[in-house]
Amino acid sequence: ATPTALMAASGRGARLGIFLKGYQALESTRDVDTVVLDKTGTVTSGEMSLVDVACGEGVDRARVLRLVGSLEEASEHAVATAISAAARAELGELDRVESFDNEPGLGAVGVVDGCEVLAGRAKLFDERGLTVPPELERQRGEWEQQGRTTVVVGCDGAVLAVLALADLVRPSAERAVHRLHRLGLRTTLLTGDNAATGRAVATEVGVGEAIAEVLPGEKVEVVRRLQAEGSRVAFVGDGVNDAPALAAADLGLAVGAGADVAINAADLILVRQDLTVVPDGIELARGTLRTIR
Ligand code: ADP
Ligand code: MG
Repeated sequence: ATPTALMAASGRGARLGIFLKGYQALESTRDVDTVVLDKTGTVTSGEMSLVDVACGEGVDRARVLRLVGSLEEASEHAVATAISAAARAELGELDRVESFDNEPGLGAVGVVDGCEVLAGRAKLFDERGLTVPPELERQRGEWEQQGRTTVVVGCDGAVLAVLALADLVRPSAERAVHRLHRLGLRTTLLTGDNAATGRAVATEVGVGEAIAEVLPGEKVEVVRRLQAEGSRVAFVGDGVNDAPALAAADLGLAVGAGADVAINAADLILVRQDLTVVPDGIELARGTLRTIR
């Protein structure tokens, strides 16, 4: 590689909010045919808000919010932060959490006010043999069709309520995806969220396919599976959980301020908020390669 071409690319990249880790990043871009986009924090803003609460029969909304809000104060997940903030806004002071366990990709479990509180995906409840009452299950399905993230809340083995959270899709996402397609790339949305929510968000931004209910540790396996099928994969992610997938991908793109581990694992660092920085990065790398050859 000619150092001048690389330096010129670095300069142009910096103006676009793109930082190249080196020549390797450019080489990798050449053959990429599939772009895997992490949903939460990448395609969406990751700043969630609680928008709806459906309680089971005879269940008091304030009690539900107190239990789940107190529990989620112990978690740093975006879903948890949104729930505890809403509970605090509505109820003021919350209760102390007596014990807390994070179930990665599923939810949270802990003791609040002497009651064992569960909050998370339906799978967290399935695993414990707990069933969601039909009316709450129907509401959950409806919200997920609308692209909401839903959280089921239980206490001492009884399902109390379902919550709906909204996470705004980045306004630039649809344009970015459209440009990736014009570059001849296939797109896939990857999420730990449920299948209906994943599909709804994929449809909203025009991504071809959604792979949902992927546990944090399995993201890297999805990348490897696509590679085993013959794809050359670019992975775009932001979080701590995304680092192994960023490293395993043929090209790793870390977006936003991002977690330090994500930045270390990536080939390209994208510091512009606007998601069109993704096609910009791929075009920049491809263009630079053409100059070098
Ligand atoms: P993503 O990859 O979409 O950011 P995660 O793998 O971190 O998601 O989590 C997957 C899903 O598990 C979330 O969408 C949420 O439904 C549920 N979840 C995770 N942590 C919590 C929590 N503390 N409280 C409630 N639900 C949670
Ligand atoms: Mg994420």
